[in-house]
Amino acid sequence: MLRLTDIQLPLDHAEADLQDAILKRLKISSDDLLDFTIFKRSYDARKKTAIVLIYTIDVTVQDEETLLRTLKDVQGQNKVGKTPDTSYKFVAHAKETSFPRPVVIGFGPCGLFAALILAQMGYRPIVLERGKAVRERTKDTWGLWRKRELQPESNVQFGEGGAGTFSDGKLYSQVKDPKHYGRKVLTEFVKSGAPEEIMYVSKPHIGTFRLVKMIEEMRSNIITLGGEIRFQQKVTDFDVRDGQICGLTINDNEKLVTDHVVLAIGHSARDTFQLIYDKGIYVEAKPFSIGFRIEHPQSIIDKARFGPNAGNKILGAADYKLVHHAKNDRSVYSFCMCPGGTVVAATSEPGRVVTNGMSQYSRNERNANSAIVVGISPEIDYPGHPLAGIDFQRKLESKAFEIGGGTYNAPGQLIGDFLANRASTELGEVVPSYKPGITLCNLTEVLPAFAIDAIREAIPEFDKQIKGFSLKDAILTGVETRTSSPIRIKRKDDDFQSLNTQGLYPAGEGAGYAGGILSAAIDGIKVAEAVALSINQKYK
Ligand code: FAD
Repeated sequence: MLRLTDIQLPLDHAEADLQDAILKRLKISSDDLLDFTIFKRSYDARKKTAIVLIYTIDVTVQDEETLLRTLKDVQGQNKVGKTPDTSYKFVAHAKETSFPRPVVIGFGPCGLFAALILAQMGYRPIVLERGKAVRERTKDTWGLWRKRELQPESNVQFGEGGAGTFSDGKLYSQVKDPKHYGRKVLTEFVKSGAPEEIMYVSKPHIGTFRLVKMIEEMRSNIITLGGEIRFQQKVTDFDVRDGQICGLTINDNEKLVTDHVVLAIGHSARDTFQLIYDKGIYVEAKPFSIGFRIEHPQSIIDKARFGPNAGNKILGAADYKLVHHAKNDRSVYSFCMCPGGTVVAATSEPGRVVTNGMSQYSRNERNANSAIVVGISPEIDYPGHPLAGIDFQRKLESKAFEIGGGTYNAPGQLIGDFLANRASTELGEVVPSYKPGITLCNLTEVLPAFAIDAIREAIPEFDKQIKGFSLKDAILTGVETRTSSPIRIKRKDDDFQSLNTQGLYPAGEGAGYAGGILSAAIDGIKVAEAVALSINQKYK
């Protein structure tokens, strides 16, 4: 196959134009063209009145001879080449010898892909997940949003599918991926019911409801391949002897013997972080970010990004990515932007308020939301103890709960009032989507002064890029504290095992090795491969 890159066509081009462009680029006739598929489609919206679609296309020509001739003819054009092999190749297969079954702790995207790959290679992993299966978990999660009832073990953060289950389901990442693990992830998602387009659109997303069904399908694949998935099974102790993991305790009573453990616990398992620290497993503090969620009418964002093309079906609801370096030396940036979505209550601990965002596949809710966050670091903001970042998060989340009125309402403020530093007393044209509700206040009290100053400075700057960003009725709610893990459970670069605990494989977002669904899933694959190679080495 040939790969053609950077084929540019106008947004409203006819279907046939794509084939014409291929024939033109390859200088061949339609008789020589057997088939083509879109590998990637992105857009360039810098000129709003003339938005351009940019394609990468894989082309099959009539025969090998034609292909070679074609390659020769187009030599010198760096936008045509042979299609690289991006298919996934297993690094190992389970041997006939007996070995303790590997255990995966956590069934978020990282644990899910670690388990799937291990199962596909024949290692019959056991997955331990503290939360419930996704349907039951959905009911519990809605319990907080509708009835203000939080289940500490079954919520937005904990349960089958992990933290990203109730999300926008964005599936892109900036991680380097020379081995094309990302394609493997997307391929498995499509096999389990994701829309085919995630394979080729430049910023794929799947939304919440589809994710739920896909996760169930993937669970059943793992079980069919000999894996086992146990819900409501929290790991409460690690049996570490002479620097080697030998087993686990589940729910304070059941013991499980194993010498290979994937630790994919996400960024909110604060009790497990404490346990890891107490057991002497190496952990260190890492930077993360804090801030608020901002909500605008989606139509403002669409217009600012796409001008007269706002509402175009191919473009969908517009997103944005913004960064500002503030005078106080803090970076402010938008994070986890959810076009046409809702702000969600995302705490996992009672008496605390945390915001995040989600959307459906259609992204057709009235508001756009995004976190606007400020980077913080252990050296400056929470020095002294590896787990100090957790205390820092907890204080802010408790304050947000208190200022919200102690009912899981999120504290909120209109942008006009936030910029003028006065408490909001009534809503304007933007209806906040956070459930169970918001309490209007002055958000200045919720975050440290440096963060408030930096965000206050950044919003008018962002307005220069997205006209309407500082709309006075736009709403801020908070707090955003679960942007990434406050700790890193460090592992070795070569075999992915913990720095000081053999057989333990810290992975995914909680261990500080991923940020987002796709990168967590990719990390799960990498770690599964390391586990398989280690088992084969140990049990020859
Ligand atoms: P998690 O998904 O957090 O999974 C960890 C799992 O481990 C949990 O299910 C937890 O219950 C379990 N666990 C923890 N401790 C134990 C224990 N002791 N014993 C047993 N089980 C345990 N990312 C994107 O890329 N796109 C998005 O659109 C997006 N939207 C998001 C929206 C929301 C509301 C949230 C909360 C997050 C969103 N994210 C999004 C972030 C994304 O969800 C995470 O980056 C990703 O889920 C991390 O995957 P993980 O597997 O490392 O950890």
